[in-house]
Amino acid sequence: MERLTSPPRLMIVSDLDHTMVDHHDPENLSLLRFNSLWENAYRHDSLLVFSTGRSPTLYKELRKEKPLLTPDITIMSVGTEITYGNSMVPDHGWVETLNNKWDLGIVREEAGKFSEELKLQSETEQRPHKISFYVDKSKAQEVTKELSQRLEKRGLDVKIIYSGGMDLDILPQGAGKGQALAYLLKKLKTEGKLPVNTLACGDSGNDAELFSIPDVYGVMVSNAQEELLKWHAENAKDNPKVIHAKERCAGGIIQAIGHFKLGPNLSPRDVSDFLECKTENANPGHEIVKFFLFYERWRRGEVENCEAYTASLKASCHPGGVFVHPSGTEKSLRDTIDELSKYHGDKQGKKFRVWADQVLATDTTPGTWIVKLDKWEQSDDERRCCTTTVKFTSKEGEGLVWEHVQQTWSEQSEVKDNSSWII
Ligand SMILES: [Mg+2]
Repeated sequence: MERLTSPPRLMIVSDLDHTMVDHHDPENLSLLRFNSLWENAYRHDSLLVFSTGRSPTLYKELRKEKPLLTPDITIMSVGTEITYGNSMVPDHGWVETLNNKWDLGIVREEAGKFSEELKLQSETEQRPHKISFYVDKSKAQEVTKELSQRLEKRGLDVKIIYSGGMDLDILPQGAGKGQALAYLLKKLKTEGKLPVNTLACGDSGNDAELFSIPDVYGVMVSNAQEELLKWHAENAKDNPKVIHAKERCAGGIIQAIGHFKLGPNLSPRDVSDFLECKTENANPGHEIVKFFLFYERWRRGEVENCEAYTASLKASCHPGGVFVHPSGTEKSLRDTIDELSKYHGDKQGKKFRVWADQVLATDTTPGTWIVKLDKWEQSDDERRCCTTTVKFTSKEGEGLVWEHVQQTWSEQSEVKDNSSWII
């Protein structure tokens, strides 16, 4: 968050399963659409927050399975754990808040008395401020009521959340996705960085709290669960700041950005001939997203193999521009583009996707930009990532010129294989 010197333009706080991530979409298209929109138009001045019921272990698993961006802030275990940045630094202030009227031992003991109805979830899902069970739909209400009474008698103040038609989470009263968001907003305000707009996105019962925070826009994705729609009908039907999107998952988030006029909502993935689309201001993030999207389409054979494209790309590379391949070999940028023609359509009909994560530009001297990003490439079941640094220059009235590109294998990369990695 330190990178932001002024209040973020937009803060998106999104649930993951069935909201940001569509588990019924093996191609992850709506997520990839969101990713390119975010890196193109928001990453530099906005905040991305993931708020999930998943524990850190299951969250990390999801990140390996799906092309998720790196969020600025991660709220996990149903709002009981808040961490910052790539290295996921925990918020100790939040931990202290949650210790109030909470005792893990007592909760375990009392819940243990419902061994018939409550089945403990895996050990990784049991956290310092969250105990999670599976419960049958028919038993959920009754167990919740009785268990809360018992815990109250023991002097605890807890919150029991039933979600997804099967999960039952017991948390401190002060926890939950909503309270974690309220805490975050308060903290940002203290730092003078209260977001201009905040959009909460969800699909299930534990997301309802997100929509109850004042001044926050909300979107329930089209595939939202019955329990959330029911909550909405009973509690927020007349709130114009909350909509039920027509599109599924991340598509619904993009729709809400447009509906509430929170900023640009045209994903570069929805632009078919983006080489033709010129932006008025030099925007290095846009240049990066556009190039790697072109690169994906080129190898998938989704753009025509015509001279005009390569010529236009070469024209935007400095004649003396150099590309340093992750293997360490150096080539001229223009030769690298020439080489691309060999690979046209080589991934046709295959599972091949490319996306950029954490695209951040700094203008070192007027007219010169250094852009850092993680470039991801998924080919069948293999995922590779290169930390990429690009130097751009821009001349008055002209577009950006690629001067230098350097790639090194990222620590996150599961496979570090130099072969068939082009750029
Ligand atoms: Mg969900």
